[in-house]
Amino acid sequence: MEKVLITGAAGFLGSHLCDKFIKEGFQVIGMDNFITGDKKNISHLLDNPLFQFIEHDVTEFIKIEGELDYILHFASPASPIDYLKIPIQTLKVGSLGTHNLLGLAKAKNARLLIASTSEVYGDPLVHPQTEEYYGNVNTIGPRGVYDEAKRFQESITMAYHRFHGLETRIVRIFNTYGPRMRLNDGRVIPAFMGQALRGEDLTVFGDGMQTRSFCYVSDQVDGIYKLLFSDYSNPVNIGNPHEITIKDFAEEIIKLTGTDQKITYKELPKDDPLQRQPDITLAKKLLGWEPKVGREEGMLKTFNYFKSLTKDELYKSEHKDFSKHIRK
Ligand code: NAD
Ligand code: UDP
Repeated sequence: MEKVLITGAAGFLGSHLCDKFIKEGFQVIGMDNFITGDKKNISHLLDNPLFQFIEHDVTEFIKIEGELDYILHFASPASPIDYLKIPIQTLKVGSLGTHNLLGLAKAKNARLLIASTSEVYGDPLVHPQTEEYYGNVNTIGPRGVYDEAKRFQESITMAYHRFHGLETRIVRIFNTYGPRMRLNDGRVIPAFMGQALRGEDLTVFGDGMQTRSFCYVSDQVDGIYKLLFSDYSNPVNIGNPHEITIKDFAEEIIKLTGTDQKITYKELPKDDPLQRQPDITLAKKLLGWEPKVGREEGMLKTFNYFKSLTKDELYKSEHKDFSKHIRK
């Protein structure tokens, strides 16, 4: 039986990847330090004989007994508010964490797939974004800690691939959503859904004319799975090209949730990309992949998830407390 290590297993994408690999008959080791994740996301797996969980910070040396066939490195804060609050941890998990996982992959002769991001394109001057575009990133801006960690992550991964001949894969993930996103992580979908459910106004940043393109989690997981088993080691965009402005999106959410909330406008965060849409020509050609779940269907599933949260969870809207992870 083949064995896969998934870092960031207690997070949104990591937990769905654990489910997918278990469903496909792999033995899965999940690793997480819970900095932005939640035990609840993997509680249904803890008694499964195919699943083992290790609580560990991947920026520290990683020891795994026995053989390992695949590693998926998904540990990293992913929400702009999270990585603004824990900038050093964000830089470390993308750099030192990735270095540790590359070393582990080399020692085990395992194939490593790293979670990169559309943020490597920064505030893009090319639209839609193809893999050839080098990006427009402000290295010293607030988002730089995430963007540059991910860019370094891609560079060191390609260096291990070229220098050591390691089998590597790089997925550039565009905004992905679905059940198990943290309600208070600050990303736009949980933010709007939480606000609608609590009867609050929806907070649109800037004039709401900035665009995003949202991919449902099952499509993202399928794309990642196909990429891992392809023989392509350069980066591949995985996302849904259906683009929408944030203002129109807020209106869609109001309609979907059947609420009559108003929209209030807040300041646009610095370096917030003005447009984002993946060009997925490469993924289509290489992997025979394209998204299947439309926004209406995906949002409804996601809304049903948020609706199922307890009142306590819904009203505990303050940001996660990171203090125990921060060394003074
Ligand atoms: P998430 O915050 O839900 O999950 C990240 C997980 O990583 C959390 O469980 C967290 O506790 C864990 N983690 C963070 N630092 C760690 C460390 N040092 N050691 C061990 N565990 C650690 O975020 P997500 O949306 O699931 O994102 C997962 C990955 O996908 C990230 O690498 C992110 O950059 C990438 N990504 C996600 C999106 C998206 O739209 N969801 C877009 C682009 C890239
Ligand atoms: N956004 C917003 N209101 C919110 C949260 C986010 O208008 O309450 C905007 C944000 O400024 C950005 C877009 O929604 O333009 C997507 O933000 P998110 O944090 O989800 O991820 P990003 O794509 O910026 O990484």
